[in-house]
Amino acid sequence: MGLLYLGTPLTWDETKPYADHVRTHGITQFLHIWDRLKDRHGDELLWGDEVEYMVAAFDDQDKNAKLSLRQTEILAKLQAITDDIADTRGDSQSVPTFHPEYGRFMLESTPGAPYTGEIRDLLSVESDMRHRRALARKHLKDNEIPFTMTSYPRLGAPGVFTEPHYDPEDAESSHSFFLPEEITNPHARFPTLTANIRRRRGAKVAINLPLFIDSRTPRPFVDPTIPWQRTLYPEDPEAKQGAALIDHIYMDAMGFGMGCSCLQLTFQACNINEARRLYDALIPIAPLMLALTAASPLWRGYIANVDCRWDVISGCVDDRTEEERGLKPLKEGRFKIPKSRYDSVSLYISEYWMNRPKDYNDIDAPHDPAIFDRLREHGVDELLSRHIAHLFIRDPLVIFSETIHQDDTVSTDHFENIQSTNWQTLRFKPPPAGSSIGWRVEFRPMEVQLTDFENAAFACFIVLLSRAILHFNLNLYIPISKVDENMARAQTRDAVRAQRFYFRKEVFPSASSAPSSCASSTPGSPISEHGNPIVVNGVNGKEKKLRNCFPLPPMPDDAVIAKTVADEYEEMTMEEIMNGKTGTTFPGLLNLVYMYLDTLDIEPAALARIEDYLDLVRRRTDGRLQTAASWIREFVRSHPKYEFDSVVSKEVNHDLMVAIDEIERGLRDAPDLLPANHRAKSPKV
Ligand code: ADP
Ligand code: MG
Ligand code: MG
Ligand code: MG
Repeated sequence: MGLLYLGTPLTWDETKPYADHVRTHGITQFLHIWDRLKDRHGDELLWGDEVEYMVAAFDDQDKNAKLSLRQTEILAKLQAITDDIADTRGDSQSVPTFHPEYGRFMLESTPGAPYTGEIRDLLSVESDMRHRRALARKHLKDNEIPFTMTSYPRLGAPGVFTEPHYDPEDAESSHSFFLPEEITNPHARFPTLTANIRRRRGAKVAINLPLFIDSRTPRPFVDPTIPWQRTLYPEDPEAKQGAALIDHIYMDAMGFGMGCSCLQLTFQACNINEARRLYDALIPIAPLMLALTAASPLWRGYIANVDCRWDVISGCVDDRTEEERGLKPLKEGRFKIPKSRYDSVSLYISEYWMNRPKDYNDIDAPHDPAIFDRLREHGVDELLSRHIAHLFIRDPLVIFSETIHQDDTVSTDHFENIQSTNWQTLRFKPPPAGSSIGWRVEFRPMEVQLTDFENAAFACFIVLLSRAILHFNLNLYIPISKVDENMARAQTRDAVRAQRFYFRKEVFPSASSAPSSCASSTPGSPISEHGNPIVVNGVNGKEKKLRNCFPLPPMPDDAVIAKTVADEYEEMTMEEIMNGKTGTTFPGLLNLVYMYLDTLDIEPAALARIEDYLDLVRRRTDGRLQTAASWIREFVRSHPKYEFDSVVSKEVNHDLMVAIDEIERGLRDAPDLLPANHRAKSPKV
């Protein structure tokens, strides 16, 4: 979430006339960044996580676990506390930051300063996350607990699910059947976003998740909790006119998706080219990590037949008109837009030889032709111009009257307005105005895990994988259409075990760089801005820390080039992708991480802790441990009060949340979810 302005937001009718103004100045602002910083080089690896929480308020008498709507007070308190700690220590760097989020029951935390590539920083991630959670927990009310659950199971279900309770009939921004206005962060940005998405679309958003049909689920399932006949808001008839599907869980408001929590990671790259290379490499990784972190099987009081939040959050901000969605004939000069603003990446952007954009950018990704031409005329290359011109097909959703006119040489607000409301699996982040920060890549698909041990494990796995990709110069490209197919598969129930995923067969750039030579070779010695090798301070030529600035060698003479693109990839199980495929040269992503670790000089005790993290990922991969989604689903289905009718009752929800809290605090074993010994090895701070 970017900075929040205090100001006067424009309604949708007032916003529309400024759309081109924001886009034009947004591009001017981008071009100023480009001119100043396109040749910036040599930034070290800095990286950080974002963890999102929902605060639950327990009512043990009523056996209810509700969402606490005290975000404003909680954030003010945490701000005062963290300011105090910073003053006492005389150092703001080590003090975590808490941020507002869309849901009025949500918090986000980030480390006080980004982690560096030092191994001790890698090992501090878990304690940093625990520290943040402990801080939040300490300053909540006695009956309130911060949870890292991706979706709250009874958001929008009948009865009381917030503290305090509000009537869902007051839903001024969303016109939802289920969520009251007060579910949303009261800062003007959020209700305005909600209302303007609805107005631009010309209807309420409509999300239908397939219901998990259990032995006593009534069929066909016509949801009795939908007020089918309500006539309070003009959009009320939409549900019965087809927006709500039978045998599905229908959701009609932004809060259902933006009220979800996730785990995001941001990496600073050496320069713009390394950032683009990393961005592309992580695109095919995104659906795999979505499947491995799946944690959200319960929605609006029902069990869904999917395990992930992605389609909900994608649908909940889908502001496309019927025309843009291809449901009505297009008017002159308009184009169909295949995806929501919140969706998977549609374009690879690296100019490195491995990217063959004509082959891999194989889906419809419309761009604004005038913006594209303007970027090209300014000297921006074709791929990046397309990327930006693709993001800029969207309208700005929130404009504050006070910030319409800006100095484009120093501000990036208009650029960020469009950029930050394109919520894709990866985000390519240019350096912000007036800061020392470099070109960055944000990895956004993962669902947040129930414990910080798991969140740290997935964060560490991804940062190590990102270095392995750059170090071994791996080629992970597959056509974007196949990545999208993987996104769809990743969300299905028990995808890790039940699905296969498209993946590239040969990941090494050439035959001679394949596994046998990998473990000992150092293909990616660091280079300085002038192309000289940087001396690495380590034992046996091993490096001491994770770093940036990997060379991008030209295409080797013996490059592995398949006859056709279709020969380059195949469907693999998650286990094959992660652990390697027998009979091939592909060692698997986890083993590539191990091979990369071999190139580092790491103390045995530190290595053992890293291996604990990788071991969690491996056990999730091969099914020895369940995903959070499977564990949650099973908890509900084996609860004595569950009636096998797909319903998650107030009491079952309460007991689930008690169990999750106990697992998080180490008071309850969950041998199907977590390795037995993890807690002993990573003590609470
Ligand atoms: P957003 O919500 O816009 O994605 P946040 O500010 O919430 O961004 O989180 C950004 C993350 O990036 C934090 O974890 C922060 O520690 C990290 N970070 C800060 N500076 C850098 C940097 N120079 N390079 C990489 N990551 C950084
Ligand atoms: Mg966030
Ligand atoms: Mg953030
Ligand atoms: Mg983020």
